[in-house]
Amino acid sequence: MRIDVVSIFPGYFDALELSLLGKARQRGVIDLRVHDLRDFAHDRHRTVDDTPAGGGAGMVMKPEPWGEALDSVLAEAEADADPLLIFPSPAGEVFTQATARELAAERHLVFGCGRYEGIDQRVFDEYASRGRVRLMSIGDYVLNGGEVASIAMIEAIGRLVPGVVGNPESLVEESHEADGLLEYPSYTKPARWRDREVPPVLLSGNHAAIATWRQEQRVERTLRVRPELVPRNMLPEELRGSRGRHAAGRD
Ligand code: SAM
Repeated sequence: MRIDVVSIFPGYFDALELSLLGKARQRGVIDLRVHDLRDFAHDRHRTVDDTPAGGGAGMVMKPEPWGEALDSVLAEAEADADPLLIFPSPAGEVFTQATARELAAERHLVFGCGRYEGIDQRVFDEYASRGRVRLMSIGDYVLNGGEVASIAMIEAIGRLVPGVVGNPESLVEESHEADGLLEYPSYTKPARWRDREVPPVLLSGNHAAIATWRQEQRVERTLRVRPELVPRNMLPEELRGSRGRHAAGRD
């Protein structure tokens, strides 16, 4: 997979040289290239922002450097790669594990990291008229810039690209996968630590009993922490009728 990132803080992406993604880059499974937006601003101060049209607080990122930067990245794309442009934004669609799985099948992703009050709307409109553009939020809160959001999305997507995680089975039983429940609690050795025991069933060697215990833990934990994620048919009878945004259960 090819990933390009455009940002005024390329240094943020040094974090993606570490760990599994760093190794995947060394092996050539992921080809990640980071571009400095300021390289596409031509005045003495390499200006990338200006005051908002219509007035108001803050600054808005200018369309010209974004246009040059994205044109340059897209000009280097392989002919049939059909790059997807992703702009992190708290006003975008919510990025989920399902989105990560969908995007892990793409050949070429381009992340455009906004700062200040965001990027001039015409940049999104221009590239949406020429190809595929998605605005994506990593949650209902506001960050200072798109860099941390892009890193979170690149890591979630990247670990699903075949060849990045050594044992693909470790991806299957995780939170938000398959039936959408949260993962069961994990334990390792020693069997006893500070008077706290590993649940005896996990040391029993009885695989069926372990599977049943883990599934019960998943349902119990999800009901307690994120009741809206529990499929309605897995809910206890008394909760099946409740409705509303924070009510338990999804269809
Ligand atoms: N004025 C914008 C609004 O109210 O929607 C917020 C701008 S925010 C201070 C600056 C940049 O941070 C955004 O352009 C976006 O790239 C990024 N950002 C902030 N929160 C985000 C979130 N929850 N998900 C994804 N990106 C986010």
